[in-house]
Amino acid sequence: MAYYEELAEMYVGDDVSPDFYAWVFPKYDHVAVGTGTMKVNQAKIKSLQAGIRKRAAKRLEGGEIIKVEAHPIPEHPRPRRVVGRVALVGDAAGTVTKSSGEGIYFAAKSARMCAEVIVEASNNGQTVPTEADLKRYLKLWDKQYGVTYLVLDILQRVFYRSDATREAFVEMCADIDVQELTFDSYLYKTVVPANPLKQMKITAKTIGSLLRGNALAP
Ligand SMILES: Cc1cc2nc3c(=O)[nH]c(=O)nc-3n(C[C@H](O)[C@H](O)[C@H](O)COP(=O)(O)OP(=O)(O)OC[C@H]3O[C@@H](n4cnc5c(N)ncnc54)[C@H](O)[C@@H]3O)c2cc1C
Repeated sequence: MAYYEELAEMYVGDDVSPDFYAWVFPKYDHVAVGTGTMKVNQAKIKSLQAGIRKRAAKRLEGGEIIKVEAHPIPEHPRPRRVVGRVALVGDAAGTVTKSSGEGIYFAAKSARMCAEVIVEASNNGQTVPTEADLKRYLKLWDKQYGVTYLVLDILQRVFYRSDATREAFVEMCADIDVQELTFDSYLYKTVVPANPLKQMKITAKTIGSLLRGNALAP
């Protein structure tokens, strides 16, 4: 635990996840050793869990396993998020982002946005909102976050595809401009555009890393 007090680790590779990433995160008095994937059956999950434990084995030595669990994280927006007088928010609506698997903020935010639309459409509870009223929440949501979801989806498709592209991703993460862009995007929950010069530099580095990825892959 001492090793992870000020540290979180992210692992990529076919042995830990075919399409996402694995992690060791400190959680108060223990560490969470996990992996995410969208593609595999339960049998494969066990081997991926074993994969991440093996990779972090040296640092986990002497540790005790408190709990083993696996849960689905819905990363796809549901095709129907509003039907009649029912509106889905959070995981039920599929608001978890690609690439990062972040769902807490978007669950709370979608719930708030939906509630605000209901309050407004119902005249503070005087009338019953219709399906069309509730669909205004979807319009607002997609307007505010549509591009963010699209960009994170593309990032996941490009970089989590193979060991070669994952090597490219790891190499890019060492770049200070990429770190800044990523940090701002997390903080402001939007894909913050860097200035055009930086953007061009990042694009060039991305292409360079992708080309080098094959050479870097084990
Ligand atoms: C292992 C794991 C790690 C994750 N890590 C992160 C992370 O680091 N950062 C991040 O942002 N997100 C993370 N997520 C995703 C995040 O947890 C979810 O996106 C978020 O909790 C979704 O919130 P929600 O309110 O939509 O759904 P939930 O948190 O699932 O809440 C739904 C609630 O409804 C209850 N419920 C279900 N059916 C009924 C019923 N019939 N009647 C009454 N109640 C019912 C459930 O018991 C549950 O309490 C992680 C998820 C998992 C599984």
